[in-house]
Amino acid sequence: MVIIGAGHAGGRAAEAMRGAGFEGAIVLMGEEAHVPYERPPLSKELLSGTGGAETTFLNPPAFYHENDIDLRLGTRAKAIDRPGRAVVLADGGRVGYDKLLVTTGARVRRIDCPGADLAGIHYIRTIDDTLALRPALTDGVRVAVIGGGFIGLEVAASARTRGARVTVVELAGQVLARVADPAVGALVADLHRSKGVHIMTGTSVERIDGNGRVAELICTDGETIAADVVVVGIGIVPNQEIAGDAGLDVGNGIMVDEYGLTSDADIFAAGDAACHFNPILGRHLRLESWANAQNSGIAVARNMVTEPVPYAELPWFWSDQFDLNLQVVGAPESWERLVTRGDPASGRGIVFTMVGPRVVGATAFNQGREMRACRQLVESGKAVSDEDLADEATRLRDLARP
Ligand SMILES: Cc1cc2nc3c(=O)[nH]c(=O)nc-3n(C[C@H](O)[C@H](O)[C@H](O)COP(=O)(O)OP(=O)(O)OC[C@H]3O[C@@H](n4cnc5c(N)ncnc54)[C@H](O)[C@@H]3O)c2cc1C
Repeated sequence: MVIIGAGHAGGRAAEAMRGAGFEGAIVLMGEEAHVPYERPPLSKELLSGTGGAETTFLNPPAFYHENDIDLRLGTRAKAIDRPGRAVVLADGGRVGYDKLLVTTGARVRRIDCPGADLAGIHYIRTIDDTLALRPALTDGVRVAVIGGGFIGLEVAASARTRGARVTVVELAGQVLARVADPAVGALVADLHRSKGVHIMTGTSVERIDGNGRVAELICTDGETIAADVVVVGIGIVPNQEIAGDAGLDVGNGIMVDEYGLTSDADIFAAGDAACHFNPILGRHLRLESWANAQNSGIAVARNMVTEPVPYAELPWFWSDQFDLNLQVVGAPESWERLVTRGDPASGRGIVFTMVGPRVVGATAFNQGREMRACRQLVESGKAVSDEDLADEATRLRDLARP
């Protein structure tokens, strides 16, 4: 078994293969210098706090040797030689495979405006990115965050917590525009404003000026933002080229079925890089989340070494910003209306997205304990009334019961 990409999905996959009783050789190769780790803390605890990188590791470094997993760090795969059934490495070496798993994740999308290569511009995808940014987030420093998605807002919150003066610039009319209803975005934007973050929407960055180092951002609406540090969070691009170049089907990610199988019977994919068929939603989708990296990595690894079982889970994502824990379940393509339970504006409540009498998605504000019921409501497609959903005296788990 050979795994390209020693990140979250790849690390869990290697572990799951051994856990399923596979006794043959496992090679886990990754281009980073770190053992497989979880990325959520990179924009939260690791950025705002002082903790070390090792707190993010999936397993201690000794785990791989102890479990006879041949972990090759600092190793970049360049190509897949399908006829030769081997991975070709950047250094010219080859690693033969019987079955291959591609968990190459994604890379950050870069801005390409004038000034984009000035010193002081940061992105966050790796431990090294966070450790390079953290010392710059000091009391009073002026930070401009480009992009009001989850990563941008988490960086804004962490930077503010460290005393920075933060401005977020978002092209869309509301933050979280790609993933949430504008009403949810407005609630989150209000939270940030109440903590002193300056949020600008409906504008983007035309150029970044500075003499070798960032000094100010010139926005398309003519506004100027003075900045000592810029953090860009404008999305990610799946690392699918290695699969596409080998002739595998790719679209928005490496196309796989519900078992994680690509268009080659011996090659699988999971995590951020894969666009999987989700049997619950009845369509393909590519997810960028901890839960998908964890669960698809494990499910597909098991499929490679034991009886295949479909990977069928409702999308689930969380984000922590200041004292808000936001959890989102479901991935509706559209919805007709919202139903609000509790009072999300004061930090505790749930916003449901509805189609007819059915809940198709839920965003919970500091209501993690209700997520199981929310998930059941979406998954079952059970008809419920808006009044019952909104009424906190009615228990969600009673509503979700079949
Ligand atoms: C800052 C940040 C915060 C996040 N916060 C949350 C959160 O709060 N909640 C949530 O649900 N999700 C969050 N996520 C998303 C989640 O972490 C990702 O979805 C998850 O890490 C994806 O796992 P993966 O294994 O598919 O990819 P990755 O973890 O990116 O691993 C892929 C690995 O493959 C390596 N690689 C790529 N190409 C090659 C090659 N050719 N040869 C060798 N190695 C290669 C890469 O270097 C990388 O190490 C966050 C992500 C980031 C970056």
